[in-house]
Amino acid sequence: MKVVLTTLNAKYIHKNLALRWLYVSRIPEADVELMEFVIKDDLERISDQIAQRQPEVIGISVYIWNADLTRKWIAILKRKLPHVRILIGGPEVSYQCEDWLDTGIEAVLRGEGEKTFWQAVRREADIDGLVSRGYVSPVAYARVDLNWLETLESPYWLAMDEEAMAHRYLYLETSRGCPYHCAYCLSSADNRVRMFSEAYVLRQLAPLAERAVKQVKFLDRTYNVMPERALRIARFIETLPPSINFQFEVVADTISEAMLDFFEQEADPARYRFEIGVQSLNSKTLEAVDRRQDNQRLLEVTSRLLKRGYVCHLDLIAGLPYEDRASFEQSYNGLFAVHPSELQVGILKLLKGTAMIARAPGWGMEFEAQTPYTVTKTAWLSEADLAEVECVHLATEKLLNSGRCRACLQSVFAEHLQLSAYALMAQAGARLQALPHPYQLKELYELLIEVLTPLVGESEAQARVNTDYLMQSAHRQKPLAIRHLSAEERKEIRRNLVQRMDFDEQQVYNYTQIDVGWQAGGIQIQIVLAVPGQPVRRIWLSEEEQQEWIKS
Ligand code: SF4
Repeated sequence: MKVVLTTLNAKYIHKNLALRWLYVSRIPEADVELMEFVIKDDLERISDQIAQRQPEVIGISVYIWNADLTRKWIAILKRKLPHVRILIGGPEVSYQCEDWLDTGIEAVLRGEGEKTFWQAVRREADIDGLVSRGYVSPVAYARVDLNWLETLESPYWLAMDEEAMAHRYLYLETSRGCPYHCAYCLSSADNRVRMFSEAYVLRQLAPLAERAVKQVKFLDRTYNVMPERALRIARFIETLPPSINFQFEVVADTISEAMLDFFEQEADPARYRFEIGVQSLNSKTLEAVDRRQDNQRLLEVTSRLLKRGYVCHLDLIAGLPYEDRASFEQSYNGLFAVHPSELQVGILKLLKGTAMIARAPGWGMEFEAQTPYTVTKTAWLSEADLAEVECVHLATEKLLNSGRCRACLQSVFAEHLQLSAYALMAQAGARLQALPHPYQLKELYELLIEVLTPLVGESEAQARVNTDYLMQSAHRQKPLAIRHLSAEERKEIRRNLVQRMDFDEQQVYNYTQIDVGWQAGGIQIQIVLAVPGQPVRRIWLSEEEQQEWIKS
């Protein structure tokens, strides 16, 4: 019996672990093929590819990012293969799925499918989690025994993945479920945490020593749910090649001191990325969504990790109860102040199956009827407030998370404590939305000068922005329209670099950019050398040097 397991991933690098678990748990009579696609693929073309295999059964994994496309895809598949049996599963259909039965599928498998999918293929009776036209299982969410999964072939090291190993994430789970109950989150519906044995996890990690994998992402909702075990696994990771990068989702305020010590004193910061969901710093908001969070400890731990050089990605959600514009601004500015590597601003999505759905009307929440079910209004945030959040999101991505203006922005708000980063990002985002696309890099920086000028004055804004711009424009971007030094002055500085500092003349004339910047609380001249193949280097001229060099 030919069975095709398939899905639409968001990106090629996102390898689907759920399908691989189905693959390794397959039944002997099934001839199984795993075919992954991405949301950008042409549905007709990929349906033809599947149809060529003449499958009897197709299993599709459905997520929030592919749900709408999957509905269309199912219709195409049924047109090309009228007799094919389609079984679907995945988080998007595990909580509310009745309307999917109208799409032409045979059944939905709610919950974990490693056993139930194959029972459905065999048309067994009374399958946990199954919903079809003739049967709705009383078990709302199927679970499998992780001990049994450990006896199967490893889904992480399949021969079919060998070739692309270096170009895709290795997704790895050491546990399933989450011990927390955040009302807006699907994982809270599965709050019985089950752990793969530590020995199994280490066995899955060990082959990394000789594989080409570059990125490992742990899928655990909370990597540090068992602190001592998490620390032991992290210690093992440190024995693996330093070229591999590891990503964890952690609950930062519960990271133990022992684990923090390890990350501060022993581990290599270049190898780890922490994803830290904060969502809000408003205690009343957190309480209303059943989220226990010690904000003070969270900020302390995050600051310590950041200071040590770890990449920390922080998440905020707008649209939660009791969070009005002022409160969200405070949450944003509070996180901005710890200088996160990335700050992601999202708007609440009301997901089927979460406790939030029932509470939403009482909080005046309105949301889109289709995926991704984004909130459009709450009792505390108007549509205009949420449109402003979109602007903040855009500016944060382009100016801060991209790294392009990070140093400038962080220093401005560290030195001008009365200013609001949120307000600036809202303005910058609105202007970014209005820029014709695609825009040049220099337009981004000029836009930042415009919004900073009313706050700190023109010359300070120009010098601060130029500090980031010259470092980013290593490949000799066009200068900003604010040059403060004449061609003659720059020529003098170049001449001095060669004569006084023994720089290579060719390199100085071909690869230096010279202009004002912001250093040690004031405007100074910066010289940036961007010689191809070498790290970009910056030299600041002291006031005396400036006078001496330019005069001489
Ligand atoms: S938001 Fe995070 S901590 Fe809360 S239930 Fe979801 S996965 Fe667990």
